[in-house]
Amino acid sequence: MLRLRNLRSRKIVSFQINKMSKKPSTPSNRPPSIDQIARAISDLDLPHPLLVDAAREAVNNANGNDVVEEARKIGEIISRTLLTDVINATGVLLHTNMGRSPIKIESQNQNFRFSNLELDLETGERGSRQDRSSKLIARACGAESALVVNNCASAVLLVIAALAEERGVAISRSELVEIGGGFRIPEIIEQSGAHLIEVGTTNRTRRKDFEKAITKNDVSLVLKVHQSNYRIVGFTETTEISEMTGLGVPLVADIGSGLIDSACPWLENGPPKWLIDEPAAKQSLESGAEIVTFSGDKLFGGPQAGIIAGKAELVELCAKHPMARVVRPGSLTLSALQDVTISYLERRASSIPFWKMATSTVDELKIRANKISKKCATETSATPGGGTLPGVEIPSAGLKLTGDHVEFFRQQNPPIICRVDNDQTFIDLMTVHPSDDVFIDNAVKKIQ
Ligand SMILES: *Cc1c(COP(=O)(O)O)cnc(C)c1O
Repeated sequence: MLRLRNLRSRKIVSFQINKMSKKPSTPSNRPPSIDQIARAISDLDLPHPLLVDAAREAVNNANGNDVVEEARKIGEIISRTLLTDVINATGVLLHTNMGRSPIKIESQNQNFRFSNLELDLETGERGSRQDRSSKLIARACGAESALVVNNCASAVLLVIAALAEERGVAISRSELVEIGGGFRIPEIIEQSGAHLIEVGTTNRTRRKDFEKAITKNDVSLVLKVHQSNYRIVGFTETTEISEMTGLGVPLVADIGSGLIDSACPWLENGPPKWLIDEPAAKQSLESGAEIVTFSGDKLFGGPQAGIIAGKAELVELCAKHPMARVVRPGSLTLSALQDVTISYLERRASSIPFWKMATSTVDELKIRANKISKKCATETSATPGGGTLPGVEIPSAGLKLTGDHVEFFRQQNPPIICRVDNDQTFIDLMTVHPSDDVFIDNAVKKIQ
């Protein structure tokens, strides 16, 4: 099992610290050396050079305070800057600040192991790292072929670079999207070497507008981008994928969120209500998109990755482009993606952490909330997050505490991330793994 650094498992060796902080074991009464201070806080489980940094900074800030105590505080701050497990109690299912989709990485073996990443076990020759997860993903979304890259931004960049080759990319003016973190469609098109051909108007774009743009310009592909994180309402008209086929150039749909099939056959009760209108890879391809691109860590529920799926010859052009090598995924990503995709193919949604959490019922969550505190239990609204489904609320349950305790919860070990609204702190249990309720219980007890 490969996990992030886990604060919970640290041992505290307190007797030694107390001894050191009160009475440094130096021969005379000189202040302890940097090295002695660093050793006195060695229970912090940081590499020695970082303990030395903390000790040095403590001596510099000393001001008559106990240097070991000061070094401990600094060390704890350093420790908290490292990547670590946290409890997401925000109710935001895909929280970009917390790595979007939760994933479980399991390895069959605790020993070190190589993998057949680029080895063909039949022939013993060099194979392709794209042979496994990509084929499974293609199967799961009904595509001829697929290619895995670093993230969806690189998927879009690669597709345009490979298929547009410095020619025009036609896109509706209503879809010139900016996704958080600086991904802007016009800039991506420019960076890929192609040029943007804006079609229609901000609120209304029709097939005729695309036809006109293609006659008047040198268009190499038509791009449809899902308005993931915003909606245009009122006097609007969008061109659906099915109305954009047969324009004489490939149709690429950047669906972003990575829902692979709108029927959600991996869920016993079919798609949840809140998923309405979210484009899915399978249906986008069936409607006539020749390529779809999407993220691995949004509704797909996997690790950070980008997927390019669709017509084999177009996917092949992407795979052969020099940029494909620049944005290729590593074996950890491919292994995690393979696990998630197999769960889809086996229709075992419960083994995909995202879908397990997203389909927990309010009743189940209420039982958990009441167990922690009957007094604080409350209904809440969770949201999909991750720049998908803006404004969508998912009925959920959790705890409500008077006052702003966000910082207190964040300082817990493991850190509990929650939200405050109107001077009330909300702990949403939909995004919390049931085995972590005990940490919330302990923290809530400290407040009351
Ligand atoms: C999220 C999103 C992206 C960017 O995906 P990353 O995996 O974060 O690079 C691109 N396009 C759309 C439509 C998106 O929703």
